Amino acid sequence: MSEKQLLEAYTGLRDGAVLEVMLVDWPHPSEPVAVWHRFRSWKHGPTAAQLERARQQVLISKKYFFRCRLCLELTNTGHRYGKDVCSGCATQHFGVVY
Ligand SMILES: [Zn+2]
Repeated sequence: MSEKQLLEAYTGLRDGAVLEVMLVDWPHPSEPVAVWHRFRSWKHGPTAAQLERARQQVLISKKYFFRCRLCLELTNTGHRYGKDVCSGCATQHFGVVY
């Protein structure tokens, strides 16, 4: 996914003023659940520049995204296998089944 696609898929602006980031949580091994975290909020909503800057901070935040060491794709930490491999590569290279 491109950074733009990642941001579209994993961030949202609630009420026009709260930037939220989605993390995939796995309370049960086969049932991912989307959990939204408040990342930043503005009293009167962000300007386009403020929103863009905050979204870039989301992308470099290790809490939300990491770069897979095999495919080098930026990936949501909810799709992480071990320390630094994405779940797609885990399936492809290690035969991990989700
Ligand atoms: Zn990967």
